[in-house]
Amino acid sequence: MTSADTSSRLHRLLGAARRIVAFTGAGISTESGIPDFRSDDGLWRRMRPIDFQDFLASEEMRRESWRRKAVSDSTLEMAKPNRGHLALCTLHRLGHLQSVITQNVDGLHQRSGIPAEQVIELHGNATYAACLGCGERHELAPIFERFRATGDPPLCELCGGIVKSATISFGQAMPAVAMARAEQETSSCDLFLVLGTSLVVYPAAGFPRIAKIHGAKLVILNREPTDQDHLADLAIAGEIGPVLGGVVETLAREPGAARH
Ligand code: NAD
Repeated sequence: MTSADTSSRLHRLLGAARRIVAFTGAGISTESGIPDFRSDDGLWRRMRPIDFQDFLASEEMRRESWRRKAVSDSTLEMAKPNRGHLALCTLHRLGHLQSVITQNVDGLHQRSGIPAEQVIELHGNATYAACLGCGERHELAPIFERFRATGDPPLCELCGGIVKSATISFGQAMPAVAMARAEQETSSCDLFLVLGTSLVVYPAAGFPRIAKIHGAKLVILNREPTDQDHLADLAIAGEIGPVLGGVVETLAREPGAARH
């Protein structure tokens, strides 16, 4: 298939859909300058992620985790939604997109203009922290200020519990409410649009199959092929910004594109 054929098939599928659910991974944010984990230049080539049990068990691991976060947060703060995020926001504005299920923790879908209640975060959010004891939300700026001054990992002033970035680490349970909502959205969409995820980590990697079982069309757009491409009505090996952005920008210019 030529890239023109691919684009016109993607255009037809997106244009016809009324309840698109996008399922995004780290790949949608690489064009914003946030590295993914599994690509050749990804973060895993540089450091191993800290497992949740190690974080709980060792103060030194918690210190290391906050040290790393101080570095990675400067990249997150600079990052802006890119053409891929904006394309999804346009699909939402036109009434084609029902929700976004994301494995990302960068908050860029919300910053692109998609209402927060329509973004389901499976791996939490790195832009704030939470107490593992009482659940109290903690803002990052005062944590970093104290951490820089003392080098001590933060504790909750309310209950004395361990404070952690509000993200889900390896070895930590998936958030039950977000998972249930994600399954519900996946089962009720008419097009499941997978963007920038290698689809290797379960349970999230099971969503495309759930969408297909419930009768949705499946589109997978990823830089490299995935193991689930054979399930897809359209699988595209390409870059999200140019491919999705190009098609959605064309769609938005057409009369009658809005579904409202
Ligand atoms: P992943 O397994 O979902 O892999 C990312 C995929 O995106 C890779 O297959 C890569 O080829 C593809 N990709 C990269 N840039 C792309 C582009 N411009 N267009 C199309 N495809 C592209 O994710 P991961 O990198 O292994 O990360 C694992 C988990 O770590 C994530 O699920 C997330 O929780 C967390 N993480 C989050 C962020 C973020 O919030 N931006 C960044 C890194 C890791």
